[in-house]
Amino acid sequence: MEFAKTDFYLDGRWVAAGGGSPLPVHNPTTEEVVATVPAGTAEDVDRAVVAARTAFESWAATDPADRAAHLDRLHAALTARAYDIARTIVLELGTPLKVATRIQTGLPLTVLRSYVDLAARPPAPQTVGNSLVVREPVGVVGAITPWNYPLHQVMAKVAAALAAGCTVVLKPSELTPLTAYLLLDAVHEAGLPPGVVNLVTGTGPVVGEAIASHPDVDLVSFTGSTATGRRIAHLAADRVARVSLELGGKSANVILDDADLATAVKVGVGNAFLNSGQTCTAWTRMLVHRSRYDEALDLLAKATEGYRLGDPLDPGTRLGPLVSASQRDRVRDHITRGLADGSRLVAGGPDAPVPQQGWFVAPTVIADVDPDSALAQEEVFGPVLAVIPVDDDDHAVAVANNSRYGLAGAVFSGDEERALRVARRLRTGAVDINGAQFNPMAPFGGYKQSGLGRELGMHGLEEFCEVKAIQR
Ligand code: NAD
Repeated sequence: MEFAKTDFYLDGRWVAAGGGSPLPVHNPTTEEVVATVPAGTAEDVDRAVVAARTAFESWAATDPADRAAHLDRLHAALTARAYDIARTIVLELGTPLKVATRIQTGLPLTVLRSYVDLAARPPAPQTVGNSLVVREPVGVVGAITPWNYPLHQVMAKVAAALAAGCTVVLKPSELTPLTAYLLLDAVHEAGLPPGVVNLVTGTGPVVGEAIASHPDVDLVSFTGSTATGRRIAHLAADRVARVSLELGGKSANVILDDADLATAVKVGVGNAFLNSGQTCTAWTRMLVHRSRYDEALDLLAKATEGYRLGDPLDPGTRLGPLVSASQRDRVRDHITRGLADGSRLVAGGPDAPVPQQGWFVAPTVIADVDPDSALAQEEVFGPVLAVIPVDDDDHAVAVANNSRYGLAGAVFSGDEERALRVARRLRTGAVDINGAQFNPMAPFGGYKQSGLGRELGMHGLEEFCEVKAIQR
């Protein structure tokens, strides 16, 4: 084992956890236990909430420029740990080092930088008739995050909450808790006031539920599965606490007949297989106009061959393992059931070769998928792409919107106006046209069962604010 963590971070100090059995952290590439973290209790959560509550008034009243300066120091302290963060994410999640460096580490640093700037210039008061409308921090935030982008999911909440003037109790995923320790080291080094950020590791049913149901947590900001989001919303509803939910997705990549097909397929596959398909916004359904369908399938088979599975530290590796054995089994089961539904295997599949050791699934493309089948409706969260033929734009929009999710999507077309018309009709929180770049300042979140609220940029900051009207 590489290291054993024994502490929580409470009220500005590392504090030894109580005596419960620690939780193992596995390296999904070797299947070995590489670390342990303490399993927190409801009492630990309570200590963290008390610290956050005590710190709130002063942090909320801190001058915006001072809050920005604190976040700027945090950015410097975290940047100094960039190499360790990337290596830790390779260790606990198996993301190939290049992606772990560029996206898993680079993106949260970009997000934090954006909140240094936004903290310095908070939303200006507005005058509406005889009212002064001001935004104020919502209070103590409980942040509960998943394993797929361990630091990014944390940063989207912590940076925005701190910029807004809130204080935070963080519970990272028990599968990937190690990067949060690096973050709290950086918080300590940056000299953030005690209690402003607190860390309690542990399981969802114990620590997560204690946060979601704590009477003194004003907002529960959650990213994870729709099932857990629903549970958290129920717990918070008992005291009418606010919730922000970033949940699952089943996003459609709509490829119109006039698209640059080679680009659409290349970018589409890259999106679907990023982070071994463990991305909530992944375009896991590819909807291709019938006139280009066979051509697209040929391109897909060739593109998938280029995704080499293996050791995430090997520079030639494009796909690492899945996070856990149970996730690997779940994804394989989706593939097997998907093929039994009568669809056609284009690449990969349950019998394709994978490394002997590690929780790998071969990148898989399945064509002729029934839009109502489980494979087209359920979130797989692995490197599995479902391809569906469509007749025209109206049919494409209908199939794309035939989902209980509404997180993201894409449109490829040679005619940008046409693409924009289709994009406007998709019932999702985001749509990318012709492989446009991810914008970390744009609001991020879902329609329908993909969630409530938005993260990132100014919309993300406002999520952590109350609105007050003062009449005069
Ligand atoms: P999960 O819901 O199992 O766990 C997420 C977090 O919630 C973890 O910290 C977990 O410990 C905690 N948790 C589990 N049960 C809980 C409970 N009863 N009460 C309180 N907390 C609880 O999700 P996961 O498996 O970690 O992540 C995968 C899912 O997350 C996928 O469905 C994916 O789509 C979704 N996701 C969504 C986004 C987004 O922004 N929309 C981003 C990443 C992942």
